[in-house]
Amino acid sequence: KLTVGILALQGAFAEHQTALQKVASARKITVCLVRTPDDLQKCDALIIPGGESTTIALLAKLAGLLEPLRQFSKEKPIWGTCAGAILLAQVVENTKKGGQDLLGSMSITVARNGWGSQVESFEAPLSVDGLRNSEKPFTGVFIRAPVILALHPSPDVPPIHVVARLPVGTVPKSSAASVQLDPDDPRTIVAVRQGKHMMTTFHPELTKDGRFHEYFVQTCVLPSLSMS
Ligand code: GLN
Repeated sequence: KLTVGILALQGAFAEHQTALQKVASARKITVCLVRTPDDLQKCDALIIPGGESTTIALLAKLAGLLEPLRQFSKEKPIWGTCAGAILLAQVVENTKKGGQDLLGSMSITVARNGWGSQVESFEAPLSVDGLRNSEKPFTGVFIRAPVILALHPSPDVPPIHVVARLPVGTVPKSSAASVQLDPDDPRTIVAVRQGKHMMTTFHPELTKDGRFHEYFVQTCVLPSLSMS
């Protein structure tokens, strides 16, 4: 039996729990909240929710979870949403002086609060290959979201797959995108997979649409189990 954990130190973990539960019950997956290294040990995969990445990192450190999380990410799938995406990144710009603790599991550079203060939150219809009913767009909810600045593919790391991009012309007035972004600009990328892991800079758990939770289970969790 499969256990998927949700890091429950701060942020939107309860919403993830509700969303994942719907997907999980049909598939004999147990959902649990993770607050200690013992909780983490029981999990086959983990979701890190949105919230405040510096706070989540600090609380993880205080709970003795930082190293166990880094170890976990070497072996098992993690999906980070928003603040969780920041924690998965290798490099973070626009963060507090001295930086912040990261898991660094994905070869990606992000900037915190990268859409600027003018438009901190917005929604965008995302078309996502591989999602169930993929012809129906998924509503991306962006709240003080990070921006993906660069992907760092190399022969030494698993290939990086772009899962979703902002449609051309969205995010009108924010400082980061006040100029029209070229469709190939990395800043239009809002969901990425690399190896076992996935990051989304938006919040699928804040919609009633469970397709991204399904996608994580299908694309990251189940394949990694059959390989181990
Ligand atoms: N701005 C937050 C951070 O830097 C992320 C926001 C979110 O998770 N909704 O951690």
